[in-house]
Amino acid sequence: MDLADFAAMIGASVPDWHRRGACRERPDVDFFPEDGIGVALAQRVCAECSVADECLAYALEHREEHGVWGGRSQRWRARYLKAAARRRLSA
Ligand code: SF4
Repeated sequence: MDLADFAAMIGASVPDWHRRGACRERPDVDFFPEDGIGVALAQRVCAECSVADECLAYALEHREEHGVWGGRSQRWRARYLKAAARRRLSA
């Protein structure tokens, strides 16, 4: 399942940048994997993607909890957001 499929499944629209994403041409890779191997496979595609920064920013802004976005796993994003919240509290 790619991001467009996921967006369609939850009734969301697909951002314009996603039409240029490397995952659009890789329907064989699951971007909502359930194990580390799946995450690594998705991250390989993201590493070659020209819109990875936009993708990651979108996922962080929208608090996307699942899947690989911008080459980052859900665990990475959760840790990043937690650290950002701690920094805001201590500033
Ligand atoms: S960064 Fe990864 S998930 Fe995001 S658009 Fe590119 S290939 Fe798809």
